[in-house]
Amino acid sequence: AERAEAAEWDGVGATADGEPVKVVANVGSSADATAAAAAGAQGVGLFRTEFCYLAADDEPSVETQRSAYREVLAPFAGKPVIVRTLDAGADKPLAFLDMGVEPNPALGVRGLRVAFDRPDVLDRQLAAIAGAAADSGAEVSVMAPMVATAAEAAWFADRVRAAGLPRAGVMIEVPAAALSAPEILSAVDFVSIGTNDLAQYVFAADRMAGALAELNDPWQPALLRLIAKVGEAGRELGKPVGVCGEAASDPLLAGVLAGLGATSLSMAGAAVPAVGAALAKHPMPTFRKAAEAALAAATPAQAREAVRSVLAT
Ligand code: PEP
Ligand code: MG
Repeated sequence: AERAEAAEWDGVGATADGEPVKVVANVGSSADATAAAAAGAQGVGLFRTEFCYLAADDEPSVETQRSAYREVLAPFAGKPVIVRTLDAGADKPLAFLDMGVEPNPALGVRGLRVAFDRPDVLDRQLAAIAGAAADSGAEVSVMAPMVATAAEAAWFADRVRAAGLPRAGVMIEVPAAALSAPEILSAVDFVSIGTNDLAQYVFAADRMAGALAELNDPWQPALLRLIAKVGEAGRELGKPVGVCGEAASDPLLAGVLAGLGATSLSMAGAAVPAVGAALAKHPMPTFRKAAEAALAAATPAQAREAVRSVLAT
């Protein structure tokens, strides 16, 4: 049935009553981008730029970065693409950054935190992104990973604007950032919730630990309650709130996320048609009801069950 629904999606991300919810893709390479465009993604909600750096012994030049980014942006000329700045840390050590060994890499100097020590690396990346945006004609926005406070978000937005890029956003993947969503949204143009890391930090459960998968379940009501806070802030401030973690690729959860206030969902390209079709099946008031039911549940299983029963009516 899921496949039949996917085939019926018309490629316009919206609920049955016409509320827009963009269905966009997570990509990390030009092959990903080509496949995502072919799958019907309306744009890119998360371009993980680490790929350009991971194998490098030296920092790639601005020109090398620019051409690598241009290849990823090319299939999305005229469409929105969110480029995430380097998300590296002690668990993904980059030779040229000369980072020390940390006992708790997930809690260490990673993501945007690296840029506070090395703003020159960020500025060169932003210059390359601005160049690739001009080359490709994609509508590029830039966002930072691992932001914890509104002050960090404002610092990043200043640098993005200084690079001549028109839109700056941040990921919400640290619980403190979710709790500061109104202040953060005041400092930037949009946010995108990274549910993989947000779940890891909310439940103090390593996302790579198979034994803790139950805690990292995106249907956990405590995680959904935090997402709801961010959605509410987005509605109040009239700014976009995306979801770009794995949660967004679950067609049953997609409507719940829309009901919680997500204005775009970003996922692996292969999941795009099924999620687009799931959103088109019900009007927004039904998804809001589904979201209320999930928030009121005690466990992930009960949340799924409650949502299934709302959407079955
Ligand atoms: C996330 O944390 O949910 C996310 C989308 O970023 P990454 O998986 O690259 O950490
Ligand atoms: Mg993350």
